[in-house]
Amino acid sequence: MIWAPEMETMPRKELQLLQLRRLQQVVQRAYERVPFTRQRLDQAGVRPEHIKTLDDLGRLPFTRKSDFRDTYPFGLLTVPASQLARIHASSGTTGKPTVVGYTSSDLRVWAEVCARCLASSGAQPGDVFQNAYGYGLFTGGLGMHYGAELMGLVVVPVSGGNTERQIMLLQDFGAKIIACTPSYALTLAEALDARGIRPGSLPLRYGVLGAEPWTEAMRDEIERKLGITAVNIYGLSEVIGPGVSNECIEEQNGAHIFEDHFLAEVINPRTEKAVEFGEVGELVFTTLTKEALPVIRYCTGDIASLDPNPCRCGRTFVRMSRIMGRTDDMLIIRGVNVYPTQVEAALVGVAELSPHYQLVVTRQRTLDELDVSIEVNEGFTKHLGGTFTGEEAEVQELTTRCQQKLLGVLGITARVTLVPPGKLPRSEGGKLRRVVDQRKL
Ligand code: ADP
Ligand code: ZN
Repeated sequence: MIWAPEMETMPRKELQLLQLRRLQQVVQRAYERVPFTRQRLDQAGVRPEHIKTLDDLGRLPFTRKSDFRDTYPFGLLTVPASQLARIHASSGTTGKPTVVGYTSSDLRVWAEVCARCLASSGAQPGDVFQNAYGYGLFTGGLGMHYGAELMGLVVVPVSGGNTERQIMLLQDFGAKIIACTPSYALTLAEALDARGIRPGSLPLRYGVLGAEPWTEAMRDEIERKLGITAVNIYGLSEVIGPGVSNECIEEQNGAHIFEDHFLAEVINPRTEKAVEFGEVGELVFTTLTKEALPVIRYCTGDIASLDPNPCRCGRTFVRMSRIMGRTDDMLIIRGVNVYPTQVEAALVGVAELSPHYQLVVTRQRTLDELDVSIEVNEGFTKHLGGTFTGEEAEVQELTTRCQQKLLGVLGITARVTLVPPGKLPRSEGGKLRRVVDQRKL
């Protein structure tokens, strides 16, 4: 179902008028109330009244993660902290966390977009919803929670992790829809499998999965092993949290961006110029309705493309592709740019493999080495006769085949190690780290 048809199916001409009006208001508000932003705009020689068309967006300066750090914790807010209704923060593994604040009006907008996500993922009012995103400072859990309540779902706020309990609740409360990271969905799928619980024997039908990159191969495996339809949800704290965009179950082919609230651009990160529809670049968002923390042209670091083609679901909002990488998780190995997701792309369709892999980059004196460990799947070990030593001729052959595929896509030689099912680290509830760059350690 479409939660807000009057917005989500609005003719694009009308939408653009709405966006322009909201953009003007948001720039005005930030200019008047945030000294940091006023200074930035003044430096760029732009004033709010210069925004006359949506194309004028291109005149506004970018906002970056470092701006959050430089103004930590409250320097980008348009209201005093006492007027906030909630504060969230990102994990902050690389220093101070990124702090985001919400007024009660912002919380309503957030719940609205999350309700739209759940509806477009297959939920209907009255369905039981197992929310296995982490609750707390992380935006995932609470964001989805209030969206689900708004749309009239029966919320099970279990949070991430504790697989044993997740399975018990799936069985006993009968959730029809679950939200979690895709890597954790795989963990759950394997745990069900290990207990002999067949996909389809549970009431579970839909998965709304995101917060980390994943692939079509992972989608296939999750859908098969959990017996569900799985869609991609995308968001980031700086923009609002989860709920920036979501795939529809009708096409499962790109996430509709809720463009009445978030204005999207894709730029070439080097030239900082907008690219054409369909071309890959860095996603940049401007919030159109947020009060406490409006962001103007926030550079996400996420690499994706936009698709303006009409969708069978009836939504008129553009769709964004899967995130193909990050401007900052881009590895430079022997001078070649490598995105971890390219490895997945290269290995999609190799029937003997599972979607579990890990990259380790090392440096022997001056030469970078890329080691790729990949789990084979159960079917392949069965074919080997149930054992896996790595010495088998079939394993050697498969290793060579993977190496060649990687060379073809990455342009560099990687050392491939195939490992038996279950060997590589799994998500324990949150985001999974697939890349270990030992050169920095
Ligand atoms: P943190 O930086 O602490 O992880 P967030 O929770 O806001 O903070 O994470 C946002 C980031 O998570 C996005 O910029 C993006 O890189 C990643 N992300 C979120 N959803 C998806 C998704 N569906 N696919 C790929 N990456 C995603
Ligand atoms: Zn659609």
